[in-house]
Order: sequence, then C-alpha cells, then structure tokens
Amino acid sequence: FGQDRKLGIALVGLGSYATNQLAPGLQQTQYCRLAGIVTGTPAKAEQWMQKYNIPKQNVYDYKTFDRIADNRDIDVVYVVLPNSMHAEYVIRAAQAGKHVICEKPLAIMPKECQDMIDACKKANRQLAVGYRLHYEPFTREVMRLGQEKVFGKVKFVEASDGFRIGDPTQWRLKKAMAGGGPLMDVGIYAIQGARYVTGLEPVSVTAQFGPKTDLQKFKEVEETLFWQFQFPGGVVSNSTTSYAAGVERLYASCENGWFELSPAFGYGPLKGRTSKGPIEQPIVHHQANHMDNICKVLLNNETLPDHITGQEGLRDVRLMQAIYQAAETGRRIDL
Ligand code: NDP
Repeated sequence: FGQDRKLGIALVGLGSYATNQLAPGLQQTQYCRLAGIVTGTPAKAEQWMQKYNIPKQNVYDYKTFDRIADNRDIDVVYVVLPNSMHAEYVIRAAQAGKHVICEKPLAIMPKECQDMIDACKKANRQLAVGYRLHYEPFTREVMRLGQEKVFGKVKFVEASDGFRIGDPTQWRLKKAMAGGGPLMDVGIYAIQGARYVTGLEPVSVTAQFGPKTDLQKFKEVEETLFWQFQFPGGVVSNSTTSYAAGVERLYASCENGWFELSPAFGYGPLKGRTSKGPIEQPIVHHQANHMDNICKVLLNNETLPDHITGQEGLRDVRLMQAIYQAAETGRRIDL
C-alpha cells in the first residue's frame, strides 16, 4: 500500500464522542478517512451526509448494518455506542469482514470481551480499543519514565479520574447500559495509568464505595469509588473515580524522584512535570493520532501491538469487575 491509500472508517453511533471528537479528528488523519456512518437517527444521517460528503450507499442504520460486508469503501468499523452495545456491534462488524476499533470499556463483562476477541480472530480481522492515550506524547513520556525507571523504581502511584455528571437521564447512569458508574466510564483511565507507569499487572485489589449524595441520580450506579492495587514487589496504587466532582491526576513517586500528569486523561493538552522540571511534549489531536497509528499498522498488514488490542481491553474489564467485587464484599480480591 502506498502513502496515498487511506482506510475508510465507518462510525457506529453518532453521539457526543463521534460528533465532537472522532469526526473532526478524521478530517486531520493521514492513514484513514470518514467513509461511512451507522445511526439510528435519520436526521443525523442527513446532516452528516451533507457536512462530510458521505454518499448515501455508505449510510446504514442498526438493521441494515450487516450489509456493510458488501461495501468496499469501508475497511474499519469504529463502534462508539453505549457500553452494553459494544459486544454485539463488534461481533457483527467482524462477521462482516471488517477490522474493528471499539470504544472503552471494551465491554461490561469479561465473557463478552472474549467473545469479541474470538469473533475478530475467527474472521481474521484485528480488534483495537479506543485507548487514545496510548499514542499521546505526554502519556508515552510517563510510560517511559516509569517503565525505564528513569527516577528509579516506581513505588507509589496516585491515579484518579472523575467529573461532575450532568443530565440525570443519560445512559451513563443506567446500570444495564453503562455496566456501572464512573469506574466504567473514567475510572478505567486510572486503572490504565497505574498499569502503564509501573509496567506491572496488579496481584490483588481492595476497594470501597464512596458516599451517595444524590440517591435519585445514583440509584443504579456508584457515585464515587476508591480502590488500591497491590503490584508485585510492594508497589501500590491508590485511586478515586467519581461522578460527584472533578479529579484528574496521575502521580508516581519513585525511589529517586517523582513525575506527574495533571490533567492526565482528558482530550488535552495534557500537562506534566517531574522532580527535575516540566515535561515538554508536542500537543497532538488525540483522536486523529490514535486512529492514524492504528490504521498505519492495518495498512501495512502488520499486527497491532498488544497494548492497543482487545486483550488489553479485556484486562481492564476483568480488573473493573474485581474492583466491584472487592467493594461489595469488603474483602481483598486476588487477581
Ligand atoms: P452518547 O450518548 O453521546 O452517544 C451514544 C450514541 O449511541 C447515541 O447518540 C446514538 O447514536 C447511539 N445509540 C444507539 N442506541 C442507543 C441507546 N439505546 N441509548 C443511547 N444511545 C444509543 O455517548 P458518547 O458518545 O459519549 O459515548 C459512546 C461511547 O464512547 C461509550 O462507550 C464511551 O465510553 C465512549 N467514549 C470514549 C471517550 C474516549 O475518550 N475514548 C470519550 C467519550 C466517550 P445514533 O443516534 O447515531 O444512533
């Protein structure tokens, strides 16, 4: 494949993330382009066709979606639906012969993740997760600082992500669609952060639910959750996730210094410093950068690196379920 070929991406679910981040990102990409859409809302289809010059034959709804198998303009299906719908649409996309990018969390339960991984494998297609930070320069730098022990071994990590949620009717507050509260939505970034700065997998977890200050809003899901991972060699991480207030920080205390990002997980620009001074990195469009890095690999017929695949998504889903189990039982859960 030459530099001139761009993979065609179809976005499934034209909500806030697809509209405000992915579609604009796809106007800046070098290795992929917005080629199609899948939506249950006809008015959005009309708008997007006009705005992005998408031909009618590349527009699907959830019923006609499987016909995408016959569409040679579409190489990659990007699933941007509520969490509970990820598994079904990833599996259908694989069965239609497309590579798939799926938003985080990969799914709600580990079994679904495994079914998604298996379906892609069976179809000989690749499955990537929407972990946009994995190619983001500030994040790459803290991965390097931690994993290469630039300040010595990482000993303690503080990794937290939360925000004050608005609309009480949204799917993020419905257990069946979201799978849980802030842990499933943004706490997953704190899990990721603790894992990528240490380069280690946790061996056990303890967790505690925080107070519910709005019983109506948080009828089905947690409002705040705290957890602690124990890693091999006595390394520990401590995390908060919440829908009650903003918190966004990734801090690592090492044998000979420290480093941190704050903000650490949002759309950027991220900002960081170490015990030696500021972290300087180029500022990129997270989503364009993420999709380009994935599509470059796919275009070259190479295998995606493990850290961006379904397996990585599955690891975090297993950890989130263990965190819930630890909080519910009050016991330390071995992983
Ligand atoms: P939205 O609620 O804004 O959009 C979801 C879209 O899914 C809807 O607009 C709708 O699109 C479609 N949909 C189909 N069925 C339903 C249903 N029953 N209820 C609600 N929506 C439905 O969600 P977001 O865009 O914020 O999030 C989508 C996914 O992206 C989530 O998994 C989330 O975790 C992830 N995300 C990732 C981010 C990241 O930084 N990586 C940031 C934000 C979200 P239509 O009308 O076209 O059918």
